[in-house]
Formats: sequence, structure tokens, C-alpha cells
Amino acid sequence: MPTLLITGANRGLGLEFARQYAADGWKVIATVRNPQRADDLRKVPGDIRIEQLDVADLDAIRAFAERIDEPIDHLICNAGVMGKYSEVDPDSWAYTLRVNAIAPTILAQALVDRVAPGGKVVAITSKMGSIADNESGGGIIYRSSKAALNAAWRSLAIDWRGRDLSVAMLHPGWVQTAMGGPSAPTPAEESVAGLRRVIAGLTRERSGSFLDFQGKVIPW
Ligand code: NDP
Repeated sequence: MPTLLITGANRGLGLEFARQYAADGWKVIATVRNPQRADDLRKVPGDIRIEQLDVADLDAIRAFAERIDEPIDHLICNAGVMGKYSEVDPDSWAYTLRVNAIAPTILAQALVDRVAPGGKVVAITSKMGSIADNESGGGIIYRSSKAALNAAWRSLAIDWRGRDLSVAMLHPGWVQTAMGGPSAPTPAEESVAGLRRVIAGLTRERSGSFLDFQGKVIPW
């Protein structure tokens, strides 16, 4: 069966991705920052291997990637943080950039040689990273971290054109998780089901696209 490697799999969208792929018989390598807070993940039936990885630790990312010696069919860089929303706090900004933009880029680069032929390399980004779509302002830290992620991954997609894989930056919608909050319109099950359809349909020709969970193109 194919293998998924996903970050931030103990709760929210990451947990739901692990649940849905495992239910389909995939082997899931599920990374979590703190295995002691992974009880929900442990209850998910299927072939799930839990690995500790704090993505803010870039050396740990590189060491983790070196330990991965099996082919990865889907890599989903999902772990993310919001950062301070209404205050431009430099420490929060630096940390949020590290987790949301630098870490997924380093992880993808470190694992690209492990990606199986026809594999999919996905960043869970946000429409809030779209500069064209920003009509409401605010959220400077989060928005800029996801815009940086998009810029970096667009380059990865171009740099990897010669490889048999496709890259995408995917917006999950506004989803009912700790980050999205209870007023979000979209349940995690629906978002992840949509994202999985989009991922399954990715092609090398469309590698480097910025899409939402329904497959709609988002302007940069
Ligand atoms: P949650 O806050 O529910 O979950 C975030 C996940 O990221 C947790 O598993 C958390 O682990 C993990 N994480 C955070 N920091 C680190 C770290 N340093 N190392 C390892 N893991 C870490 O958020 P969502 O599930 O909603 O978000 C998932 C992704 O979707 C994020 O990238 C987010 O930006 C994006 N997104 C979400 C939207 C929404 O409406 N929910 C909208 C647009 C994008 P821990 O439990 O240890 O904190």
C-alpha cells in the first residue's frame, strides 16, 4: 500500500488526514511535536507509525529525514501556527515564519529524494497567504508566513520540474479545528475529503498550483 508522511498529525486537519488515509489502507508516518499529546491519533485504527518531530527544530527535521528510508507517496506538510494576530510582535513573527514557511520547505527538500515516482508533495497553506485576495488587512504575521510558504514552494515546484512528482499549495477552507474555531463553516472531515480529491488529481503539468479544497485556483 502507498505511504503518507504528514506533520502535525495529533489534532485538527493532520489527525483527520491520518484517519482518512489509514482507513483506505495507506501506511501513515504521522509526526507529532509531543507524542504524549497524541492520544487521539493512537486511537485511529490502521497502519500508523507515530514519530516525534518539532518542526521548529530545523536540525531535528534534517535528522528525521535521514532516518526515512522508505518511498513516500504523499508528503503533506500540515503543521502550522497562527502567531499573534493583532500585534506585530517580532519574536512571534520569526517563530511563525519558521514553523509555517521555513520548516515545510526544509522538510520537503530533505525528503524529495525519498518521494516515490508520481508522488505528491503538498503544503497546507492558507488563502490568507494570497496577496491578491487580501481586502481585509490584519493578520500580518500569519499572512506573511503563508505568502512566504507559497513563494518558496512555487520555486520548489519549478526547480523539481525534471522529477516525477507534483507539488501543490492547498488551502483547506475555513475549518472547525482549534485554529479555525467553532464558527468555521467546514468540518475537518469535509475539508480533508476535498483535499484528498485535489491531491489525487494533481498532475505534473499543474505542479506549483495554489488551490483550495474544492480544486479552485486561488490568485497569488
Ligand atoms: P490546529 O491548531 O488544530 O493544529 C495545528 C497542528 O500543527 C497541531 O498538530 C500542532 O501540534 C501542529 N504544530 C504546531 N506547531 C508545531 C511544531 N512546532 N512542530 C510540530 N507540530 C506543530 O490547526 P489546523 O489543523 O486547523 O491547521 C493545520 C494547517 O492548516 C495549518 O498549516 C494551518 O495554517 C492550515 N489552515 C487552517 C485553516 C483552518 O481554518 N483551520 C485555514 C487555513 C489554513 P501541537 O498539538 O503539538 O500544537
